[in-house]
Amino acid sequence: MPEGIVGEFLSLKAETDADLLAMQCGDFYEFFADDAEFVGRELDLTVSQKGAHGSSYPMAGVPLTELTPYLKVLVERGFRVAVADQYETDGGHARRIERVVTPGTLLETTDAEARYLAAVVREGEGYGLAFADVTTGKFHATEVGGDIEAVLTECYRFAPAEILPGPEVRSDDALLERLRGTEASLSLHATEAFEPGRARAMVDDQFGEAALSSVGLADSTGAIRAAGAVLSYVEDTGIGVLASMTRLQPYATEGVTLDATTQRNLELTETMGEGGRALFDVVDHTTTSGGGRLLREWLCRPTQDTRELERRADGVDALAREALARERLRETLAEGFDAERLASKAVSGSADARDLVRVRETLAVAAEAAAVVEDSGLGDSPLADVLTRFDREAGAALREELDEAIAEDPPATIREGNLFQRGYDDDLDDLIVGHEEALGWIDGLADREKGKYGITHLSTGRNKTDGYYIQVGHSETDAVPEAYDEIKSLKNAKRYTTDELEEREREVLRFEERRSDLEYDLFCGLRERVGDRAELLQDVGRALAECDCLASLAVHAVENDWTRPELVDSGIDIEAGRHPVVEHDVEFVPNDLSLTDDRGFLVVTGPNMSGKSTYMRQSALITLLAQVGSFVPARSARIAPVDGIYTRVGALDELAQGRSTFMVEMSELANILHSATEDSLVILDEVGRGTATYDGISIAWAATEYLHNEVRAKTLFATHYHELTGLAEHLDRVANVHVAADERGDVSGSEATGDSSEAKRTDGEVTFLRTVEEGPTDRSYGVHVADMAGVPGPVVERSRDVLAKLRAEKAIEARGSTGEPVQTVFDLGSGSFRGSASADGGQASMDEAQNDESDRDPAEESVLDALRGTDIGETSPVELMGKVEDWQRELDDE
Ligand code: ADP
Repeated sequence: MPEGIVGEFLSLKAETDADLLAMQCGDFYEFFADDAEFVGRELDLTVSQKGAHGSSYPMAGVPLTELTPYLKVLVERGFRVAVADQYETDGGHARRIERVVTPGTLLETTDAEARYLAAVVREGEGYGLAFADVTTGKFHATEVGGDIEAVLTECYRFAPAEILPGPEVRSDDALLERLRGTEASLSLHATEAFEPGRARAMVDDQFGEAALSSVGLADSTGAIRAAGAVLSYVEDTGIGVLASMTRLQPYATEGVTLDATTQRNLELTETMGEGGRALFDVVDHTTTSGGGRLLREWLCRPTQDTRELERRADGVDALAREALARERLRETLAEGFDAERLASKAVSGSADARDLVRVRETLAVAAEAAAVVEDSGLGDSPLADVLTRFDREAGAALREELDEAIAEDPPATIREGNLFQRGYDDDLDDLIVGHEEALGWIDGLADREKGKYGITHLSTGRNKTDGYYIQVGHSETDAVPEAYDEIKSLKNAKRYTTDELEEREREVLRFEERRSDLEYDLFCGLRERVGDRAELLQDVGRALAECDCLASLAVHAVENDWTRPELVDSGIDIEAGRHPVVEHDVEFVPNDLSLTDDRGFLVVTGPNMSGKSTYMRQSALITLLAQVGSFVPARSARIAPVDGIYTRVGALDELAQGRSTFMVEMSELANILHSATEDSLVILDEVGRGTATYDGISIAWAATEYLHNEVRAKTLFATHYHELTGLAEHLDRVANVHVAADERGDVSGSEATGDSSEAKRTDGEVTFLRTVEEGPTDRSYGVHVADMAGVPGPVVERSRDVLAKLRAEKAIEARGSTGEPVQTVFDLGSGSFRGSASADGGQASMDEAQNDESDRDPAEESVLDALRGTDIGETSPVELMGKVEDWQRELDDE
């Protein structure tokens, strides 16, 4: 009944708010009607027109076993797909929706990255947030102040794949707009799920009644509402992973503020533009996916907790020293699997026997890692403590159980037996014995029959249509006994069966069925018991991830000559610091930084392309790395942990998104001025450039005063407004530094001066030393940069000419298209072009145009001399008029 099927499809579709429905029809999942057209386009599936009783409808399908990859593609593109499975009923079969696969609840991910589902609610003056990763069981909830930026900061940190906006958020256009700007897809979830009472019950049910108060969230209605909504959404999708969420984790209270803009500007995990590498990609040497996830988390969530930082750095230190043990540990870790993800799979019932083998091997890896640590110089390092964070006895017991249970190399399917070892279950052993006996009888049949009847070309076999059979070559078919029943004639042979063979065949089939049913049941039981140990597996996963992460930091420190930062009470003092990413791309010139209580605000000047941004970012990144527990790229570093890092840099990407740059620039500045404190580090890379010069200077000036006087944050401010360098004289904590450039130097020049600095780089005529020095710079090198960038020679020369005149405050003649001066004058006072006289007959050559007064004709010279020599104070107006008349006549005569 084709129409019946479409009808059924459409009525199931009406039950769900998913975007698409995949409905099982026998061995296929089919999409019908509009959904078929849609997946046809999205997935490149063939859409056929099926018709019956005069109507026709499109249909597209995928085989049952191949649904997962298609679902992944759809879901990763942001669609939610309901899956309806077929089940047997008395009179035939029916279908119902078993699960909804959504971007934030996709279990079948192979990404190393976490995959978060988030909920955002508005509560009182602030927002409640919850984030869950169904693939690992991580669950976080928190509350933030009433600022949209704070919500976005968290969303940027967790990078959720799917966000559930609460009822109030759905009508908050400004926030919705910003959430839409993230990479997450927004899904509507039932309003009731966000109700405080219901949400609290959900959370209590999930994590235990004491959980909320033990993590200090008992009164945080916002966090509870968000958490409850996430839990109920996960439940509704039917993926069955709720039990893997064993722990409610609060967070952010002890963290370092890194707003979304800063995380992006510092390129922690993603780069801003084309090319280049993110910090994570450079420092990541982890060998496990759990380790990679944790390293990402650490980088995006630095801490001020000095005890924790010292603990991590002690670990890195020990691993850096113990090279052999470190490499053994890393090799050991690489043998393991993603225990947190395996826990979720066991809980949701999607783990197969091979996954349980992976659980067993990972537990073995954990024991081995502990042995490596204990038997080496790492024995009294924090690594040893990390590896006691899971219950080793429980781990050993689970491993033993799996060891005794699961076969050496089990199949990928759990429906066809061969999953278990002998000796695991008596009933199963009996079945196996019977099964093998029956199989043995059939195996020996050919030889027995050959001997009995003297037939040489006799064999036995089995296939789907004929079942077991005896096959005899045509030349000997006359010799077959009476008892043989012919079942098929082939080109060269005939196939037979006998009563006894049929009896044995039935026996084999019975054993097969009973064996696979029993194995399936036993397997489900075992998987459930493993699922019950989800928390243990998560502990193991986290411990191994932390070892991996610390080892990765140690590898990077050793390979790149990083040093352990000293955590101090005030100031930031970096000696010979480098940029952790750029140092891999160029021969890097190290630089110092000193920010103290008395000298906390540096105005950084220097030519374009001299390295100002790099210097400021490296300072921020070194501070950040120190607060991750990592070593840092510097000869030495003394750092007082900061409570936040704020940056504002050229917003090229925002411009590409069509948001006004100046608007963005100003809102970022506003956010910094509002949020930074005395303990923060602020990096400003040009402020005010998006507007007219005088406006820009004024804003930059006022922002500097405010940061210096009111906020008192440690600040690095790069600017091309040299006016700002004067502030150092007036504001006591402001100092100037500049990136040095050596204008004399060209390649030979720098050699000739015997400059030993190998790192001295020559770009065209200006040698950028890339060393940051005290004091302001007084030059603008825009023209040199234009030259370096390949701007045509005459243009560059002319620019130099104009620049020289501007500096000398001389009037500049603009030049016409033919190259002659048109005697237009640039007025330095108004900053604009004044009047436009006609061209002077075109006699002036290019050379003349560049000339000074010495090349003027004698009449002009004498008039000018007279003009200069006239003292207006001593001359009466009438006399003056006479003089002017004379001069005009002189020039006219000429
Ligand atoms: P600015 O902000 O002054 O325009 P950037 O910081 O963008 O300059 O640096 C310009 C280029 O100089 C970058 O491509 C970078 O690779 C290189 N650079 C910057 N600092 C250094 C340094 N200390 N040593 C070597 N190369 C550097």
